[in-house]
Amino acid sequence: MEKILIVDDSAVQAIQLKAILEDEYDVAIAQTAEEGLRRASSEDFSLILLDVVMPGMDGFTLLKKLQEEIITQSLPVILITSLSDVENEQRGLVLGAVDYISKPFSPLIVKARVNTHIKLYRYRRQVEQQSMTDQLTGVSNRRGYDLYSIMKWNEAIRLKVPFSICMFDIDRFKVYNDTYGHPAGDKVIASVAQTATAYLQRSTDFLARYGGEEFIALSLGDHSAQIFQYMKKIRQAIEDLHIPHDPSVAQWVTVSIGGVTIIPEKDSAYDFYLKVADTMLYDAKKNGRNRVVWTDEHMKQLWEKE
Ligand SMILES: [Mg+2]
Repeated sequence: MEKILIVDDSAVQAIQLKAILEDEYDVAIAQTAEEGLRRASSEDFSLILLDVVMPGMDGFTLLKKLQEEIITQSLPVILITSLSDVENEQRGLVLGAVDYISKPFSPLIVKARVNTHIKLYRYRRQVEQQSMTDQLTGVSNRRGYDLYSIMKWNEAIRLKVPFSICMFDIDRFKVYNDTYGHPAGDKVIASVAQTATAYLQRSTDFLARYGGEEFIALSLGDHSAQIFQYMKKIRQAIEDLHIPHDPSVAQWVTVSIGGVTIIPEKDSAYDFYLKVADTMLYDAKKNGRNRVVWTDEHMKQLWEKE
């Protein structure tokens, strides 16, 4: 079921709208623009119904903010206005609202407009989805990662749950490519992605090809000790594929894995922890490769094969 967010300070009005739509959609209500913004940037809505007149932040300001955020800028917003208020309608459409609904509501018109915009959004998302998938591996590409990482990071802040950033790459891959050629190298990248994907199946897991032979995995909910164990399994499973490497550097193709688990807060900087994960990967490489090195917000390191 597609999810719709109603942002309206009037509970009566919000409940009326919800009643019209809840047969076909999963409808949530936010009573302030601030709450609406928070939920829109951390949950997977397909449409927002936005009241213009609200105390505190008004609908126009929220609409502007939604347009500025990479995660929410393509979300269709339908404004709720009063019939008499032509000026507001115009202003809303100029600001990027896809449509407006006038009070008092006609259930049929509300439904028809919502259905149309949800259909358009669904189609657009399909196209976007394709553009965010890496052709070789079928996992997310860098573009998909950029979008998803912000969304999940915000979600972790909102839910106050642990968030893990994991970077891994194929050991001595340049040597592999030089020895066996790029088409063979591509097959190795695809096999590694496939194996990692098989372990990252939970709805809270995410895997992207970060570039070349480098991957990035994100996970919500697990503490560092749990995810560390899990990553060791992935590393082992890739070694167990027994893909022959160039014998001068290693018997099998393996990966090094570095990561960090934190419970992010409002002011935490994602990029900082991404660098921490990268540093852990560097440590894994420097200390012999084919191992997992993990840390947490207290910088307490966990080492495989110490
Ligand atoms: Mg209002």
